[in-house]
Amino acid sequence: MSNRQLALITGASSGIGREFAMMLAKSGYDIVAVARRRELLESLASELQVLGAQTRVVVADLSTGAGVQSVIDAASDSDFLVLNAGITRAARVGTTPSDQIAKLNTLLATGVVEVCEAIVPRMVQRKNGEVVIVSSIAAFTPMPKSALYAAAKTYVMSYGRSLNLEVRGSGVRVCVVCPGYVRTELHQHAGLAHLRQRVPKWLWINSHDVVRAALSGLRKNKSVVLPGLVYRLARPFLGSRAVQAIWQSTTKRN
Ligand code: NDP
Repeated sequence: MSNRQLALITGASSGIGREFAMMLAKSGYDIVAVARRRELLESLASELQVLGAQTRVVVADLSTGAGVQSVIDAASDSDFLVLNAGITRAARVGTTPSDQIAKLNTLLATGVVEVCEAIVPRMVQRKNGEVVIVSSIAAFTPMPKSALYAAAKTYVMSYGRSLNLEVRGSGVRVCVVCPGYVRTELHQHAGLAHLRQRVPKWLWINSHDVVRAALSGLRKNKSVVLPGLVYRLARPFLGSRAVQAIWQSTTKRN
């Protein structure tokens, strides 16, 4: 690696994570790119090289303890963490086997916390570091048939908000970004491709909007940001029953 700062990005092979990799490489970071699909990570690495960034490719399944540990081992010297890897899941209560529940929780929740617990203290020691945790609007609104996903996203949001306060003033910044609907592969992988048609166009944003909002949130030391004007305007009302009823009827999953 060069003498540029180092950014660890989980879920860098597509969507929001890939966009973070491009933006941070342009801002002068070398990248540790993590996901399961090696070929996509390698093609990303070639693109980042053109931008002047070197890339360590780490192929890991972050739904396993071993995968999480391999990432900590590969990137403990990171200056910037983007904890983004994830899937969504639509399933009625009682239909997810317990091993799948454990994997989902490791991927979306406890694995994220383990990486922070291992790497953030080193950032505090160096008095320098930035952390983005990718949560979801699901941390604000109940999601029938996605209770496991919503619960995991709430867990990391809560952790990130407390961490933000704990390290404030130490030179380390933490921001939790909670996107609504983003045009990526996420829904397609979960068998929810039909949401592209069902959810109104004005609720969809791009990965670029998510990354911009997260970086701006970090600069302003905000603990939580919701990317996209519609979501920002709706934020104060997301707890109200009327808004939740509208949200659930416009985003119904079947
Ligand atoms: P994508 O499907 O495009 O990207 C998901 C990324 O996570 C891929 O790089 C994928 O790589 C990686 N990933 C998935 N499972 C694992 C695993 N077990 N181990 C390692 N890496 C894994 O979706 P998005 O970019 O949309 O998703 C990024 C994050 O944004 C997720 O946490 C998601 O919950 C969140 N989010 C997305 C929203 C949306 O509407 N798209 C809305 C709100 C939040 P690979 O398959 O190669 O392993």
